[in-house]
Amino acid sequence: MTVHPDVKEILLDEKTIARRVAELGAQISKDYAGKSLTALVVLKGSFVFAADLLRAIDVQTKVEFIGLRSYGSRTSTSGVVEITMDVKYPLNGHDVLIIEDIVDTGLTLDYLKNNLATRKPASIKLASLLHKPERGVKDMSIDYLGFTVPNEFVIGYGLDFDGRYRNLPYVGIMKTP
Ligand code: 5GP
Repeated sequence: MTVHPDVKEILLDEKTIARRVAELGAQISKDYAGKSLTALVVLKGSFVFAADLLRAIDVQTKVEFIGLRSYGSRTSTSGVVEITMDVKYPLNGHDVLIIEDIVDTGLTLDYLKNNLATRKPASIKLASLLHKPERGVKDMSIDYLGFTVPNEFVIGYGLDFDGRYRNLPYVGIMKTP
């Protein structure tokens, strides 16, 4: 595999990701057996993970999208979050599974969970591809976690820097300029 010149190190290659995503899909299918699920895909970073995870889930599923932007420095959030695109349909009574790319400080998800709670879903669970446990300032419970990663800025498989690198098929640590 050719490594992008801006990537210092590949953390998770395509096969490793695919294997774990299949496991998560199987677990989610088991846990939601007999129910119908509303997947809430958090744009933009989780679109690649969501596309793979959703195809590994075999319960009845609706897919909704929400766009969030968290302000801060270029590689870290301040916790100030804006909804750039809201869900188009009511979520009351739905079993909602949030699909996120990465939980870093947890501030973005904390905001989202509080916001969703006001819409009275039947349940809210969280699937996140990545978690940086060293950084967690909030005690977030991730129901379905792909991988823990070190406290480095990662790109690829949906995750960007300045809008770029989302199309890399692996997750890698970005070189510091
Ligand atoms: P939070 O700190 O609120 O948990 O994370 C906020 C958002 O910052 C994440 O949803 C993600 O979009 C972005 N983020 C956090 N860490 C990284 C990282 O290492 N790489 C990339 N590309 N985005 C990150």
